[in-house]
Amino acid sequence: MKLSSRSKAYIIPEYSLTGDLISFLTCNLQYRYQNKGTLPPSTPIQLWFGEFIHGVMEEAYLKWKNEKPSFPWDWESNIRCIEKIIDYRLRARGLYAPTNLYCTKYKKYEKSIPPGNDHPYQKIASGRTERAINILGPDLFPLIDSAEVLIKGTRKMPNYKEGQSRSNYYGINGVIDVISSLKISENKNNGIIEYLNNNEEFHEIVHSIDSDEYEIIIDYKGMKRPSVDSDNWNYHQWQLLTYAWLRSKQEDSKPIAAGIIFYLNELLPSTEDLIAIKEDINQNRTDVEIGKEDEDKLMNWDENNEEDNYVYLSKEFMKNRSIRIIPIEEKPILNALEEFDEVVSKIENSMIKEINGTPIKKAWKGKAEKRTCMACDFKTFCNKMDSKDITIP
Ligand code: SF4
Repeated sequence: MKLSSRSKAYIIPEYSLTGDLISFLTCNLQYRYQNKGTLPPSTPIQLWFGEFIHGVMEEAYLKWKNEKPSFPWDWESNIRCIEKIIDYRLRARGLYAPTNLYCTKYKKYEKSIPPGNDHPYQKIASGRTERAINILGPDLFPLIDSAEVLIKGTRKMPNYKEGQSRSNYYGINGVIDVISSLKISENKNNGIIEYLNNNEEFHEIVHSIDSDEYEIIIDYKGMKRPSVDSDNWNYHQWQLLTYAWLRSKQEDSKPIAAGIIFYLNELLPSTEDLIAIKEDINQNRTDVEIGKEDEDKLMNWDENNEEDNYVYLSKEFMKNRSIRIIPIEEKPILNALEEFDEVVSKIENSMIKEINGTPIKKAWKGKAEKRTCMACDFKTFCNKMDSKDITIP
């Protein structure tokens, strides 16, 4: 009797929008080591802060929903306890807070030091959580209908070749931080809706919607607003457009009119962020106008003077920079999906090359911005950086 063999498992490669596609675009080789090789970064500043601020905003929303504390929240009595929960949660996953970003000495200092923005142990990450909650929270929390919504879909594998490609489909997934459902007929007195209403494209889209309700999708980013000519500027737009496509496939979705990205570093920029903001303004690489007073302050600030290493900008300017509105329309969605197909095709190509025996450094291209390379754990052996630029602690 002939025994039949079990057929090969049918596996569809899964790609996450932020974890895979944007990481790959940042540097193919770094993505290979970090994501495929599961080698976590040794100093995960951006990774830690991104996870931390997402967790804090989610918990703060739940606290607001259940207890309705009035704004502004006091950092020491209302926010610090949330930070602690999230810090412990991240530690359980092996993500430890960078010491220059966040203070983990809860017991020793919590009771003895008065609250306020100048709290000596309120390092920049905590300063940002306080501002994100108190500046954005009063308008944002009442708009939230669902938070942390998982979205998934499948697409045809680009450039599929039978016998060579790993699968004829690929899976795409992501998590929408916030979905807000709004009624066209309702005129809410809300700061975020005011930002939306000031956007002409958004207006046109809302008025073309054949329904009384529409949705807004919101994403938090633990980073500065990118320059308008940078790759990140486009990647973030593609990300939200793809989220909109995935969301539109879910049964309970309504027409999606816009995406909003909150760049949370803008609410309390680091010195490095301020230098980059100044550069963006000088080189005309930003879409946010600066007022005369803020401009004078920023342009007269000498970033090389160690005694004057910070400049405080107005709350209005920081808020304007932190909010980015992305109108959602069909044509840009199709373009974004094509872009992502292209990226998946490149990842699959590199993967197949490696499976077929090509050395890692040849199968995956090492190329990134200098700032990314400087912070990269693999710079000493990837041979892409000039050895004189490499400093080893
Ligand atoms: S050093 Fe730069 S090019 Fe090399 S792997 Fe890291 S990010 Fe990529």
